[in-house]
Amino acid sequence: MDQVSRIKELKEKRNAVILVHNYCLPEVQDVADFIGDSLGLSIKAAETDAEVIVFCGVTFMAETAKILNPSKIVISPQPHAVCAMAQMCSPSQIVDYRKENPDAEVVGYVNSTAASKAEMDVCCTSSNSVDVVSKLSSGKVLFVPDQNLGRYTKSKCPDAGVVLWNGMCPIHHSITVGQVRALKEAHPDAVSLAHPECRAEVLDLVDHVCSTEGMLNICRGSDRDEFIIVTEVGMKHRLEKEMPGKRFYFPEYAVCSAMKMVDLDSIVSSLENLSNQVDLDPQVIERARLPVQRMVGREL
Ligand code: SF4
Repeated sequence: MDQVSRIKELKEKRNAVILVHNYCLPEVQDVADFIGDSLGLSIKAAETDAEVIVFCGVTFMAETAKILNPSKIVISPQPHAVCAMAQMCSPSQIVDYRKENPDAEVVGYVNSTAASKAEMDVCCTSSNSVDVVSKLSSGKVLFVPDQNLGRYTKSKCPDAGVVLWNGMCPIHHSITVGQVRALKEAHPDAVSLAHPECRAEVLDLVDHVCSTEGMLNICRGSDRDEFIIVTEVGMKHRLEKEMPGKRFYFPEYAVCSAMKMVDLDSIVSSLENLSNQVDLDPQVIERARLPVQRMVGREL
């Protein structure tokens, strides 16, 4: 039996759902029950009645699903698939900041560890960071860990008092103005879109700044057929699969190795053995639940 058939069989046996991020390998995207960005997948995780959630992506995503579903089995098929940015703001750094700034609210990008989420007031994704921050009223908001998403959000919420942290996604932060200019020169009729994890000077060059799901919606709704997509290259598979008549151009080297670690073998073996389960401290789950619930619009 091939791996895809085996995954189908195991999914039924385990009553499992497979959630896959837009940056994963093409063959992993093709076995997904749901594919999407962090916000969309977190909402699916909150809604599912499956007994087992297999979260293909990086570990903070599976942790978020566990926070929303503490009684379910949540599997992260590659426990070493760690997002570099999620390591850039520790729980103790947030605690220290709060001691010095007791009047500030802390907003955390979902790309954070569960332990850091437990110290936040509210989490957000690249889809809803502006919405989340615009509803806060303290006048002083620490935004962690991504300086680029924080800067973009601050530009859209100038009165919120956003204070930036020094973290970043090494993949998006490495995309240069020169690369984007070269793509625009090579494809002058293309609509350009960039993820807000990119540097501000890159965002200044494009027609649209949006999350990966936002990119899909804009490309689907456009009557144009060429697009420059400034984000991780895993998006190409889904865009080309859903819109076979359109062409998509990406910056070279925008590849996240952590996002490519989950493969079909690791999904089969995790489902066979119910291995690589996410195991979080119950106190961390308890404290992180409210900020995550606020992110997905399901406040307690
Ligand atoms: S692309 Fe960047 S933010 Fe996304 S998982 Fe990789 S390192 Fe983390």
